[in-house]
Amino acid sequence: MIKSFYPIIVILLFISCGEDETPMMDLTPAEPIVVAEAQYTLPYPVGESYNVIQGNNTSGTHQGSFRFSYDFGMAIGDTITAARGGVVVFVHEDFLDSDPLRANKIVLLHADGSLARYVHLTHRGALKTLGDSVLRGEAIALSGDSGLGNAHLHFDVINVPQPGCGPTYCASEDCSTRFTVFANASGSLNQELQEATGYLALPFRQE
Ligand SMILES: [Zn+2]
Repeated sequence: MIKSFYPIIVILLFISCGEDETPMMDLTPAEPIVVAEAQYTLPYPVGESYNVIQGNNTSGTHQGSFRFSYDFGMAIGDTITAARGGVVVFVHEDFLDSDPLRANKIVLLHADGSLARYVHLTHRGALKTLGDSVLRGEAIALSGDSGLGNAHLHFDVINVPQPGCGPTYCASEDCSTRFTVFANASGSLNQELQEATGYLALPFRQE
């Protein structure tokens, strides 16, 4: 009985789906995206996708000096990669994931003097140490839950020098963030990322 219906179901499916089906737009470029030194790539491995759980200028904590920060919904232990090459100038990794106030972080100094902050790392989650040179896309840390209470990666770039901010003490200071876009964010190449939206990290190569 079931067998006799099977060809009919297949035909109906073919008729209903076959004619006006528009192919899904493939957002993946045929070639890796070429990225200049001063650009940024998403701070997680190519092929991975994460939601922006807090965007720029949002009502949570991304206001004022933090207005150009992004939060990515990464879980404890997920791999964080360098969004731009640089030198490690600040590392905190001793705080526990359950610590509600103190956040682990790793900070990279770029060629133009700006600094990228990767915050809320897991306990002992730094994969690089002070003074290490890091290439774009290299794994630098493991995401975590330190300092807040919900696991995610807080990422931003700050300009230095500015009053109260510098390579060795910026991480805990209230420094103004710089508007940052990502060259390999699927569906949002070099545009501001939107909250509650997932972004796949597309393949890239350094210029
Ligand atoms: Zn944040």
